[in-house]
Amino acid sequence: MIGFNVAPFTGKEFDYIREAIEAEHICGDGIFTKKCNDWIEKQTGTAKALLTTSCTHATEMAALLLELQPGDEVIMPSYTFVSTADAFVLRGAVPVFADIRPDTMNLDETLIEAAVTERTRAIVPVHYAGVSCEMDRILEIAEKYGLAVVEDAAQGVCASYKGRALGTMGDYGCFSFHETKNFSMGEGGALLIRDPEHVEDAEILREKGTDRSKFFRGQVDKYRWVNHGSSYLPSDMNAAYLWAQLEMADAITADRMRNWELYREMLQPLALQEKIELPMVPEECIHNAHMFYLKAADLEERTELIAYLKAAEIQTVFHYVPLHTAPAGLKFGRFSGEDRYTTRESERILRLPMYYGLKEEQVLYVAEKIKEFYR
Ligand SMILES: *Cc1c(COP(=O)(O)O)cnc(C)c1O
Repeated sequence: MIGFNVAPFTGKEFDYIREAIEAEHICGDGIFTKKCNDWIEKQTGTAKALLTTSCTHATEMAALLLELQPGDEVIMPSYTFVSTADAFVLRGAVPVFADIRPDTMNLDETLIEAAVTERTRAIVPVHYAGVSCEMDRILEIAEKYGLAVVEDAAQGVCASYKGRALGTMGDYGCFSFHETKNFSMGEGGALLIRDPEHVEDAEILREKGTDRSKFFRGQVDKYRWVNHGSSYLPSDMNAAYLWAQLEMADAITADRMRNWELYREMLQPLALQEKIELPMVPEECIHNAHMFYLKAADLEERTELIAYLKAAEIQTVFHYVPLHTAPAGLKFGRFSGEDRYTTRESERILRLPMYYGLKEEQVLYVAEKIKEFYR
């Protein structure tokens, strides 16, 4: 059986978790959390990175830091994971969904302006498959209307747009280190903060509304409750697991990239025969091989293909149910304009096995079975 995902594991995780325990600091903000934060800051160039308990929580923090009020509107794609919307819905904000581009599956930047109203406060681009949205245009629109930008870069660690790391271009960027992502700590994420003047508020929010981070740096002699907050910091044992991967991130990305390129090479003939479509990566984007997908003709063909591959012991998955058609989406949000591609493309997409350590012969086998299906 070739599974769709295997959680990343490098072999150093046990050593580092042991180190965290031996350091007698297994709660948040220990040595490994600091290593991970520093690594993210160096790798991306962001002013500040704070490890969090999930990408969902990082996005919630961004919504809180923006002080969104009930009725405020946030423009985002409907083709995304629920957390993108949920983090804002928790603040009473209204997700306003705009259609995606069929080539990258990202928010269509040409449809954003039409979705702007008096109540719009933010744009939330989701960098699907680690391929960047058209950020120059999005940042231009944000500037023109005075909107914040929160990047859902859950899938975008180690990917860039015109040389800028995903997650660093908006006011806030959100990473995920869930076990299905390129680098993992089981459950976890990070909040990237672009402007240094927002760092202190973020630290307070993450540490139960206290100035404990300042206290640890010796900047105040006792820590106090200074604002509303919650607990968004992960245990240092989880950070230790993550560190084992971040320190060899280049090798992990290169391994995934080899398999990604191999899938593409093997499936290109089917794409040229117009039997399937393959992912498009715009020239200005460097992606991270987070995902390899193909698009079948329609829902029916995809269903048959999934069954065919399952019979060959290959696990493939699809996603997302467009948020605007889901019960909570109908209740909390609305779609701006026409759904030309969101539903149609979401019914065609199929994700192939992709994880660190997936073997070349497994990729070749998957590609062969797909070709067999189309013969
Ligand atoms: C994985 C994912 C999330 C959620 O990440 P968690 O760390 O599980 O909270 C949010 N948005 C997108 C696009 C994702 O792929």
